[in-house]
Amino acid sequence: MTNDWTQAAERDLMSLGSRGRMFTHGSGSVIYDADGNRYLDFLGGIATNCLGHAHPVLAEAIAEQATKLVHVSNYFTTPQQLELAARLKRLAGTGDAGRVFLANSGTEANETAFKLARLHGQKTGKTTILHLDSAFHGRSMGALSLTPKAAYQNPFAPLVPGTRAVGRTIEALEAAFAAGDVAAIFIEPIQGEAGVVELPDGFLRRARELTTANDALLILDEIQTGSGRTGQWFAFQHEDIVPDAVTFAKGIAAGFPMGGLITFGAASELFAPGMHNSTFGGNPLASAAANAVLGYIESENLLENVRARGEELRTSVVDLPFVTGARGAGLLVGITLSEPVAADIAAEALKLGLIINAPAPDVIRIAPAYTVGESEITEFLDVFGQALAAVREEHPVEATA
Ligand SMILES: *Cc1c(COP(=O)(O)O)cnc(C)c1O
Repeated sequence: MTNDWTQAAERDLMSLGSRGRMFTHGSGSVIYDADGNRYLDFLGGIATNCLGHAHPVLAEAIAEQATKLVHVSNYFTTPQQLELAARLKRLAGTGDAGRVFLANSGTEANETAFKLARLHGQKTGKTTILHLDSAFHGRSMGALSLTPKAAYQNPFAPLVPGTRAVGRTIEALEAAFAAGDVAAIFIEPIQGEAGVVELPDGFLRRARELTTANDALLILDEIQTGSGRTGQWFAFQHEDIVPDAVTFAKGIAAGFPMGGLITFGAASELFAPGMHNSTFGGNPLASAAANAVLGYIESENLLENVRARGEELRTSVVDLPFVTGARGAGLLVGITLSEPVAADIAAEALKLGLIINAPAPDVIRIAPAYTVGESEITEFLDVFGQALAAVREEHPVEATA
C-alpha cells in the first residue's frame, strides 16, 4: 500500500515536498492512515482543525447546507454570509463601524489587506508597507513580498515593490516609522511559521501608537492566532489595543477552506464597489461551516479548554530531554530545544504515531484541537517523551569537563 501511494504522489503531484503519510479518516484528535495505523494529531492540519477530525457539528452543517445552496457568486448574498459577517464583527469587537470581506484562504485574506494598505497609502501619499523579520504572510506575489525568507522569495523575483522589513524590537519599530513613508505595517501577534515566536512586551501597543501618530494602518495577520487559537477570539484581545484590520483563515471553519479580512473604523470605508472581489469568497457552504464552528466554540465555552490545556501542555513539557522552554498562547505551543534536532524529533514522533512539526531547527510546534482532553495530553506526553528519548540516544549529551 505505502509503495503504491508514494509512487503516485511523486509522479502526479507537483514536486513541492514529500508527503509523509496518506490519511483516510479520523475522529477527534485521532487520524488513521491507509494501512490502518492510528496517530494522535497534535498539529491539527497546521493549527486549522480546531474541532478535531470528523466533528459531527461541522459534518452536519456542511451536509445540510449542501442540500440547500453551495454557491451563488458575489452578485448576491445569503443568510449564512450575513450571519457570519455579523458574528465576526461581534467577536472582533468592531462595533458598528466594522466590515468583513470573505475569501477562501489566508493568502487571499492578506492579499486583500495588502490592497487595503495601498488604498490607504494613496490617501496619505505614503507608499511603504512594513513587515517584520521572519514574518510569514503567504505565498502569492503580494503576500510573498511581505515574507522575507530567501528560499521562498528568491525563485520568484522581482517581488512587489514598496515593502520593507523591520526587526522585532521596539527600537527598530520606532526607527522604521521615523522615515515618515509608512502606509501600513503587517504584524503576526505570534509568529507561527517562524517557530511560535512571541513579540517583545509592549511591541503591539507601541505599533498601535506609531501607526496612529503616523496615520498608518495597523494590520494584524491572525490567520494562525485567530479563531480562538490563543484562548481569545483574536490574539490582539490579550492586549489593550484595537487594530485597523485583522486577517483570519486556518481555524475559522475548522478545515473547510475560508479566510477573510475584518476592518475597524475608517479602514472600513477604503474599498469601494468594483475594486476587489472573489468568486467563491463567502459562499454559503463555507459560511455555514464557519458559523457552525464558531457557534460551537462559543456555546461549549471551548476557549476555556484552549487556555487550560495550553497551560497544562506548556508546564508539563519542560522537564523532558532537550526541552529548554515552552512559548506561545492557548493551544499554539512552541517547544524550544537545546539542540537543532526538531526535524528528527518530529520524524521519530510520526513513526511512533504522533503528529507534530518542526517550524524551526530548534522548535517543535503543537496546535491540537480545542476539544483536546486530559487523556490525550497524557498520551501526547508519553509518546513525545519516547520520541525525545529516541533522538537523545542518537545525540548523547557530551560529557562536560
Ligand atoms: C498559514 C498562514 C498564512 C497563509 O495562509 P494560507 O491559507 O496557507 O494561504 C498566512 N499568514 C499566517 C500567519 C499563516 O499562519
